[in-house]
Amino acid sequence: MGTEHPMPSARLIDGAAVAASLRRQIGTAAAELRDAHGVTPGLATVLVGDDAASQIYVNSKTRACAATGLASFSRHLPADIAEPALLAEIAQLGADQRVDGILVQLPLPPHIDRARVLAAVDPAKDVDGFHPVNVGRLWSGLPALVPGTPQGCLRLLHTVHDDLSGAEALVLGRSNIVGRPLAALLLAADCTVTVAHSHSRDIATLCRRADILVAALGRPLAVKGDWVKPGATVIDVGINRIPSEDGGARIVGDVDFAAARLVAGAITPVPGGVGPMTIACLLANTLIAACRRRSLADPPLAG
Ligand code: NAP
Repeated sequence: MGTEHPMPSARLIDGAAVAASLRRQIGTAAAELRDAHGVTPGLATVLVGDDAASQIYVNSKTRACAATGLASFSRHLPADIAEPALLAEIAQLGADQRVDGILVQLPLPPHIDRARVLAAVDPAKDVDGFHPVNVGRLWSGLPALVPGTPQGCLRLLHTVHDDLSGAEALVLGRSNIVGRPLAALLLAADCTVTVAHSHSRDIATLCRRADILVAALGRPLAVKGDWVKPGATVIDVGINRIPSEDGGARIVGDVDFAAARLVAGAITPVPGGVGPMTIACLLANTLIAACRRRSLADPPLAG
C-alpha cells in the first residue's frame, strides 16, 4: 500500500459563525445604547406588493431585529401604490425619530422609479447604502453607510487578513449592490483593485493574478479551479439554484468550490459564506446610524 497524500485544502471561511459573532456584538452594543442613552435603534422595512421572496427577506430582517434587541417597523404597501404615495411613506419614516434605518425592499413594481425612491431615503437612515450620497461618500473615502453584502465580504476577508494593503484584488461583477461598493471598500483598504464584467477579456488570466478573488456574477460555478492563484483568498457571493442529481434543486455559488478549495488558501462555502453576513451587516448599519444620528461614537464591532 502506498502512502496516501491528502489533497491540500483551503481554510473554510465560516460566514455563519462570523455573522453570529457580529450579531452578538450588535446585541451587546444595542443594550449598552439603551442603558446609557435610552435609545433603541429601529429599522423600518418598506415592502411594496406581494412578491413571495421579498416577503421572506423582510420577515427574516424583522426577526433578526427582534433577536438583537432592535425595534422594527414594517410597512406593507399595495403593489399598485402610486409613486407619490410611496415617497410620502418614506418621508414619514424619515421624520420618525424612532426610526434609525429605512430599507426599501427591492425589486419595486415596474411603474415605480427605483432611483427616485432610493434617493428619497434620508441618507442618515440609508442602511442599505444605496443613496447617491452614501455611494459618493464611500468612493470619496468618507464615513458612509456601506451596503450589507460587500461590507460582509470585507468583514470575512479580515478574518483571514489583518492587512490587505498592496494585495491584488479582483472583483468579478460591477453591480451597484455588490461589485462596485466592494471595489470601493477594497481600494480604501489599499488593495490594487481590478473590476471585471461581461465585457472584460480573458477573465481566467485576470483571476490567476488575484490574491483576493471575489465572484459576484450570478453565473453558477463559472470560476474554475485552475483560474485560482495558489494560496489566494476566494469570496463567493453567488447564490444560484441549479438542478441536482436527485431531480431536485441545489444552491451553488459562482465558484467551482470543489476544485477551487484544492488551490485557494481560504474560501467561503455556498451556502454558509457571504449569505449570512448580509443581514448581520444591515443590523450593524442600523446600530451605526442610530449612533451617528445622535453624534455618538460608532459602536465597536469586530469581524
Ligand atoms: P447582477 O446585478 O446581475 O450583476 C452581475 C455582474 O456580473 C454584472 O456586472 C455583469 O456584467 C457581470 N457578469 C455576468 N456574467 C458575466 C460573465 N460571464 N463574465 C463576466 N462578468 C459577468 O448581480 P448581483 O446583484 O451583483 O449579484 C451577483 C450574485 O450575487 C448573484 O448570484 C446574487 O444572487 C448574489 N448575491 C448574493 C447576496 C448575498 O447575500 N450573499 C447578495 C446580493 C447578491 P455587466 O455589468 O457587464 O452586465
